[in-house]
Amino acid sequence: MAMSSSKQSRKSGQIVVPGDKLGVIEEFEPGPGTYVEENAIYSMATGRALMDLLNKKVSVYPGTQISGFPEVGSIVVGQVSEVQNKQAIVRIFQVGNRIVSGFISGLLHISDVSPRYVENMYDVCKAGDIIRAKVISDKNRVFHLSTNDKDLGAVYAFCSRCGHLLSSGRIRMRCTECGNTEQRKTAQHYGKEEFEE
Ligand SMILES: [Zn+2]
Repeated sequence: MAMSSSKQSRKSGQIVVPGDKLGVIEEFEPGPGTYVEENAIYSMATGRALMDLLNKKVSVYPGTQISGFPEVGSIVVGQVSEVQNKQAIVRIFQVGNRIVSGFISGLLHISDVSPRYVENMYDVCKAGDIIRAKVISDKNRVFHLSTNDKDLGAVYAFCSRCGHLLSSGRIRMRCTECGNTEQRKTAQHYGKEEFEE
């Protein structure tokens, strides 16, 4: 089951180039940045693919690539790659409104998650989630992230049982596919993040 969740969530956030096949029209609705040819959906741009499994829609968000590092204070978007008890590692793919070329890792410590006490990082995010965070320190070249703001936190989170996009609730997140409920620290615009150009 862990296999299927990582397989599905890996698609979101993946870099695609024009002509890359993203899916077929039987499974997805073609969104912005895509085109359809003989029932298949392809990317029209170089950017990040977003597979919206809830609405069965696939889009590509183009971006200007940068190779620099984020500065303290910048807002970044990335995919959670690893979660431990007290911290999570995030692969940053967007800094401000620009796509990052190459991978930059960020570290989200449990004390920087929310103004309230959080006991366990597994109640904050899971591997595969897409989160929006702020860079609060780059000491020793480690990008420390914070989600301590209502705009920050998970913007897309996936069911750890089946990999489906979770619907946000007040406290618990719910999978409409398998009924599983999970906890997250979400951004207030959860599920509506439009990656800017
Ligand atoms: Zn599920």
